[in-house]
This record gives sequence, structure tokens and C-alpha cells, in this order.
Amino acid sequence: MIIWGWGKVTKKIIGAVFERTCSHCNSSEIWNLCIVRTWFTLFFIPIIPYRKKYCIACPRCGSYMELTEEEFEQIKIDITSGDDNINKDHASDRMKYGGKTETQINYLKQMEEYKNK
Ligand SMILES: [Zn+2]
Repeated sequence: MIIWGWGKVTKKIIGAVFERTCSHCNSSEIWNLCIVRTWFTLFFIPIIPYRKKYCIACPRCGSYMELTEEEFEQIKIDITSGDDNINKDHASDRMKYGGKTETQINYLKQMEEYKNK
């Protein structure tokens, strides 16, 4: 017998957004940006997400406000860029030049700059 369903809902939290007073539980909390997916399940295992909602949610009571995809992308950029840009640059350099020494990396960067001129 195949057991399937449509109802499984998962919430993926992307990050904290801003403080907001919740109209449900009346508390001021930092709300979370999240993606809510509704899944098609087979034997209780989520297989295909068939509905996707973007929202910001109250961390206390879980009530949420739906966003459009554009709003979501904008907020996501705002919270994932931000003040640790330098570290991010560094991390992406490390990915790109994985396993190389600082000197080699500097050399490669100079070569790239040279090529771009
Ligand atoms: Zn709330």
C-alpha cells in the first residue's frame, strides 16, 4: 500500500529581520524571515514542495505575514549582506583559491587585476 499526502509543512528560517510588535501575542520581538513549504509526501517523507510561501514570522507565537517574492529577495539581500562584507569576501576568496597559500593567492589576484586592465 502506498501512503501519500499533501499536508506536510516545513518552515525554513533564513535569518532575523527587524523588531516588530506582533498583533497576535502583543510582544515586541525580532521577527524571522522564512520560507514555508508545503510538501507532497510519500510514506511520510517529503518528496516535492508544491507550494512555497515567503513570510516574516513572529518567533514567539509563530503568526506570520506573507511577502511577495520580490519583497522576500530584497529583505534577504539586506540581511545577508550587511556589515560583515569583508569576511564574506575573504570566505569567497578561500573558496576560489582553495588550498593555496596567501602568497599564491596574492599573486593570482594581481594576475587577475592585470588581465582586467
Ligand atoms: Zn506573536
